[in-house]
Amino acid sequence: MDLSRRDFSRLAALGAAAKLMPRSLQAEPSQKKIGYAVIGLGRIAGHFMPGSRNTTNSAITAVVSGHRDKAERIAAEYSIPANSIYSYENFDSIAHNPAVDAVYVALPNSMHAEYTIRAAKAGKHVLCEKPMATNTAECEEMIAACKKASVKLMIAYRCHYEPTNLKAIQIVRSGALGEVQAIDSSFGFNIGPGEWRLSKKLAGGGPLFDVGIYSLNACRYLTGEEPQHISAYSSVIDRDGRFKEVEENVSWTMKFPSGIVTSCSTTYGADMPGYFKVYGSKGWLEVEKAFVYEGLRLRADYAGTHLDEPNPAKDPSHFQAEAEHFSHCIQSGQESSSPGEEGLRDLRYITEIYRSAGISI
Ligand code: NAD
Repeated sequence: MDLSRRDFSRLAALGAAAKLMPRSLQAEPSQKKIGYAVIGLGRIAGHFMPGSRNTTNSAITAVVSGHRDKAERIAAEYSIPANSIYSYENFDSIAHNPAVDAVYVALPNSMHAEYTIRAAKAGKHVLCEKPMATNTAECEEMIAACKKASVKLMIAYRCHYEPTNLKAIQIVRSGALGEVQAIDSSFGFNIGPGEWRLSKKLAGGGPLFDVGIYSLNACRYLTGEEPQHISAYSSVIDRDGRFKEVEENVSWTMKFPSGIVTSCSTTYGADMPGYFKVYGSKGWLEVEKAFVYEGLRLRADYAGTHLDEPNPAKDPSHFQAEAEHFSHCIQSGQESSSPGEEGLRDLRYITEIYRSAGISI
């Protein structure tokens, strides 16, 4: 609890500080850029790479892929030399590449632990996509491997670095809404067949691992508290072959130590654009599209204050902020706002949600 409160105070302070800080100090342009090897050249890597390119402290300096043609095409786009293109087989030789300071793990969930641990053994810092892994034991091994190698481990919770989410945290945590009573949140989408996300072996579980984790994490960062009680239901409605291994729907409630109760839903069977709404004794605050890459909108009504603030930022601004933060942490030696321990906490709650819903992971 104490650790978490400190983490989130730091997160809110960081957001406030980032706004006040001159751009030149945020990006430390005088220092060498942090070079990233991107592992897995799929959809999310396609957002992270242009985001990194927009920073002044990060650069894509290597790629790791099972598809040589795709790797060569992206390498050409980012001026990456041929000797910095790796396959999964020769990845460990990246230890000898001085152009690579860190890796970005953008692989299916069940591969996060292996590549984080191999990267740490190669002496590289690790930015790993969410969910951190498919179970808590893997998370603990990843944290231990990075500690042993004295490299940093950050989980890519991009909402921790996104201004609209940070503003919501500041307002809620300032007490402006009065006593917070309840939070509602959901995030989901209608998944197509044939996705690795529908394989339990590759994904670990269904929409809770993939997108429900945003609502879980938001309830924690908005309150600055850790859930004490969790209760959940899960279901499969569409018997069309997609949900043989993972669930289609999960809804869960959490009770936090202050008494705040939260209600969250996630699905792979319908489009849920993703939002949270916080209800306090003096009013409410809502962020529409809170977890997607653009189009976020904060609205609030409390104690005579009326806010309606669409965020005009375009993709890949979330990824730019995330890369900037991790590179700054590596350059300055500071701990990130979403270290491995944060990913582990979510995996513990995910395990508890599944246990309550009667699903074993
Ligand atoms: P994707 O399917 O688009 O890309 C996955 C990449 O991994 C591909 O390049 C694929 O070739 C490679 N790969 C290697 N071995 C594979 C295997 N055995 N099966 C399937 N692919 C394999 O997936 P994605 O949407 O980019 O998701 C990757 C990770 O990023 C996931 O952990 C996901 O949860 C996370 N993610 C994060 C965000 C975010 O906003 N932070 C958004 C989407 C996905």
